[in-house]
Amino acid sequence: MSPQTTAPGPVAGSGATAPRPRARPPRRRRDQPAYEPDLPPEIPDSRAEPRSAPTGPACGGSAAGCGCVGRCQRRRDWSWSPSRSCTSTRSGAPGHGTGRIRVVPVAGPASAATGRTVRYTVEVEDGLGVDARTVAATVRKALLDRRGWQTKDLVRFVNVTPAQSAAGATVDIRVTLASPELTDRLCAPLQTRSEVSCWNGTRAVLNLRRWVLGDDSFGRDVARYRIYQVNHEVGHGLGHGHQTCPRRGTPALVMQQQTITLGGCQAWPWPTRP
Ligand SMILES: [Zn+2]
Repeated sequence: MSPQTTAPGPVAGSGATAPRPRARPPRRRRDQPAYEPDLPPEIPDSRAEPRSAPTGPACGGSAAGCGCVGRCQRRRDWSWSPSRSCTSTRSGAPGHGTGRIRVVPVAGPASAATGRTVRYTVEVEDGLGVDARTVAATVRKALLDRRGWQTKDLVRFVNVTPAQSAAGATVDIRVTLASPELTDRLCAPLQTRSEVSCWNGTRAVLNLRRWVLGDDSFGRDVARYRIYQVNHEVGHGLGHGHQTCPRRGTPALVMQQQTITLGGCQAWPWPTRP
């Protein structure tokens, strides 16, 4: 259950139908994962809309994928939409792939860290239009960087190759980039609403939509948001729950739901402090 109760800033003008906020969180079943997805605890209705909508990442770059010059705006259903100054409505992130998940190779030497071994795969859904090598390199950097969980938790990440995985090797954490549609399926019964990522079972499910568009908490720096996305969901896999901003103006904790609110902190993608 998320400790955060602050709703995200709503955005007017999409016409999207927002699901009704839950009156109270449902009782967790025995087979339900321990963590809520990284989703706003509630989506406000139209009565809560401000007069001027907050703006998100710039739409000019390929990262945001709008193919226009302007600012993205957040819809009521938590998705981004181009503002009026945009000339294209291309979202930049397909809603679905083939549904087939493929384990991809991770290039680079093994980690020199010592500590408890955590075996991981990098997996990508087919049909997403992403470069699997780039995805693998980003995940590897997030996991093996000296600012990462290896330093914080004294673990050693060991990659399980596609061949080893096919042969039935044990995998502790499957870092999986999935389309919004598949994310919803992999995260069920958690409700990711095609917008956010989650941890479920042994999977750190990275929602392609956030991978491509990033989030306004990290501004235009989508690459930095991806590091956060990996570290946050893998953090759940290592047993960490959500945290809140410890002090205004300081770097956020990686287990904060930075996609929803920074709580007065500054965006920070690493498990260790700067
Ligand atoms: Zn989380």
